[in-house]
This record gives sequence, structure tokens and C-alpha cells, in this order.
Amino acid sequence: MIYLKSESEIEKLRESALIVSRTLAEVAKKIEPGVETGYLDRIADEYISDQGAKPAFKGYGPKDNPFPATLCISVNEEVVHGIPGSRTLMEGDVVSVDCGVVKDNYYGDHAYTFTVGECDDQTMALVKATRESLDLGIEQAIHGNKVGDISNAVQSHCESKGFGVVRELVGHGIGKSMHEDPSVPNYGRRGRGTRLRSGMALAVEPMITAGTYKVETLDDGWTVVTADKKKAAHFEHDIVVREDSAEILSTFDYIDEIFAKTNSN
Ligand code: MG
Ligand code: MG
Repeated sequence: MIYLKSESEIEKLRESALIVSRTLAEVAKKIEPGVETGYLDRIADEYISDQGAKPAFKGYGPKDNPFPATLCISVNEEVVHGIPGSRTLMEGDVVSVDCGVVKDNYYGDHAYTFTVGECDDQTMALVKATRESLDLGIEQAIHGNKVGDISNAVQSHCESKGFGVVRELVGHGIGKSMHEDPSVPNYGRRGRGTRLRSGMALAVEPMITAGTYKVETLDDGWTVVTADKKKAAHFEHDIVVREDSAEILSTFDYIDEIFAKTNSN
């Protein structure tokens, strides 16, 4: 069942998405070699409650093994759903930070991949291609197109650079539930799948690897890693399908501003 959103619902989705954007920027300020991922989680948790919102991931999932944290922090070969804790970030790491919140019954869910200090060229290329593929996918999210147009744009860009496209995890609709229909895979054929309509709210989220697209889940029941242990990247935006071009509800501007400042110092 796909729920088309009214303009007033879209405003609520935007508010939640922007809380996530600002949370990710708070985390961005603290990303450096030596920082514990559990500390980043506490920063995010505090910031979200200061905004009158609630973390959406904490407690999510099966009753006997709910996700225990506010952020998913996935380092290097971890693709998504990494659990923050005592691990410290090191120079050269690539780290995906995914955050979900709920406010006023509407969800925000988006993610950014950071590089820690100096990273090798292949890692930089992986992160760049993943972010570009998010933009290219979103360009296809217009009324009358198909979900497969988004999927194919992501897949063809990343595969043309020699990277792997994860199959087992996909983007999704978003609204009063964090995960709604339709699924938005990062692989697929143009012109196939669900027809996109104005007012559909989607979380588009390429998960891209430096090697095989195959993934495994660790014994903690959450952390998804690449089968060949090569690095992965993950970016996610919340968007609304519109007539001429998709509207992006979340933003990386706050994060980009922080890095622009750091680089000009
Ligand atoms: Mg998502
Ligand atoms: Mg997410």
C-alpha cells in the first residue's frame, strides 16, 4: 500500500528530515581519528531529544534483539546497521552514519558517509560515486517515471566506476512508518517497477561497495558487512516525487558548511 502525502504531511516529513540533517552535522563536527563511535551516538541522542523528537532506530526490530542505539555507525567493511560502541575511528576509515527520528508521528531517515582524515584514492572514489549516484537516482524521481528508473540510474553509475551495488538492502517509502511501500532497490531496469506519482515520499539510499555486492550479517544480528571485507559507502536522502523534479526534504548543506569551515582554517 502506497500512501501519497498531502502538503501538510510533507511539511511534517520535512521537519523530521531536517532534524536528522542537523543531527548528522552535530556528528560531523566530532568525526576525527580517536573518537569512539559510542560518543557520537550520545551526541546524536542528546541533540534529537533537544529538538523534541525521538530516535527512530532505538528499539526497532525484533523484540528479542531490538537495535540498541540512536545511530547506525558502519565503519569500513560494515555497510549498514553497525552498532555504535567502544570502537574508535582511525585515520583512513570510511564511516557511514545513518540516523532516524520521529516527530509528530512522521519519520526522517537519512545518512552520510564520512572519511576520517586522509583516505586512499579508491576510498575517495567510492564515496564520491555513491554520493553522485544518490543525486542521479533522485533526478529520476519524477511523476510518471518508474522505480526502476531510480534503481537503474544508481546501478549504472556505480558499476561504470567498477563498484558493487548491494542487492539485499533497499530504499523505501517513508511517512508515518519508517519503512513504507514501495521498495526502492539500487539495481534494476529502466521502465520497470512501481509507477512514481506526485506526493510519494521516498528514502533513496545507495549502498555501494569497493568489491563484491554480496553482504553478510554479523552474529550481533544487525551489522551488515561486505562478504569480501572491502569498504562500503552509503548516502540517503528523504525526497518527495513531484511533477518536474523531486523535492529533497533532507539536506547535506549543514555538513558541507562544517567541512567548508574546517578547510578554510
Ligand atoms: Mg532508510
Ligand atoms: Mg537510513
